[in-house]
Amino acid sequence: MDLGLEGRVAFVAAASRGLGRAIVEELAAEGAQVACCARGDDIAAVAAMVAKATGADVLGIVADVSVPADVERAVRETIARFGRIDILVTNAGGPPPGPFESHSPDVWRRTVEVNLDSVVNLTRAALPGMKERRWGRILNVTSITVKQPVEGLILSNSIRAAVTGFARTIANEVAPFGITVNNMLPGYTRTERLEQLAESNAKAKGGTAAEALGVWEKQVPMGRVGAPREFAALAAFLASERASYITGQNIAVDGGWIRGLL
Ligand code: NAD
Repeated sequence: MDLGLEGRVAFVAAASRGLGRAIVEELAAEGAQVACCARGDDIAAVAAMVAKATGADVLGIVADVSVPADVERAVRETIARFGRIDILVTNAGGPPPGPFESHSPDVWRRTVEVNLDSVVNLTRAALPGMKERRWGRILNVTSITVKQPVEGLILSNSIRAAVTGFARTIANEVAPFGITVNNMLPGYTRTERLEQLAESNAKAKGGTAAEALGVWEKQVPMGRVGAPREFAALAAFLASERASYITGQNIAVDGGWIRGLL
């Protein structure tokens, strides 16, 4: 299937490793020009590596998506280099685990900045150009927690619900401009984030990180955690020309973990 991504320009947030990086690799392999950001200057090396492996033009930008000025600058730098943004992938680091009373008001506010405000600010910055050209794709990385809350992840369970409401509403506002907005819901996927969650579960409940991982694997009908590339494949499809009539959706890549019907 030709995804029609050749020559498209993508911006992928929070991409020095894990799911964001896998999405950069996938879009670049499909022929897109890709700008990506992360807080550390290792993003430049990631961009260079992906460019070398795929032959695509890849730009790494040091930016913290929770800082509005960084978001504006990152979008400006992308447009200066590639002329536009056709595909926006919002993403950020995951919120800390722990029960309600373990999180200070500062941690709640910080999670709102990182996991909700970043989506709103990135969308605000990329949308005008998409509307002008009457074509766009906005993909938000959220979580399976929006369909089935995960015990011990109260911040993710709460704040990603707001992203889901935002995306479902704006999807209809921008649909007449040929712009689609969808949320991608990773299940348990082997990244540094998952390793950290396994460590923290082991600390809270006893046992080892490997045992914690084993418990999750048993919950997944496929009997294993996912690979970042399996998640990135969904991003490539939703970003494509072929996904032009899919909008306002929440699509999980979870090996069957969510037990609900919808
Ligand atoms: P990860 O920790 O492995 O990677 C996160 C990436 O985001 C890194 O490149 C980091 O540098 C970057 N980053 C973090 N905060 C940033 C910020 N403020 N500004 C710019 N860059 C920032 O995480 P991951 O597993 O790739 O997860 C990505 C998202 O998906 C997270 O929000 C996570 O909670 C969510 N998620 C992951 C899983 C999973 O199993 N991996 C499951 C459900 C949801």
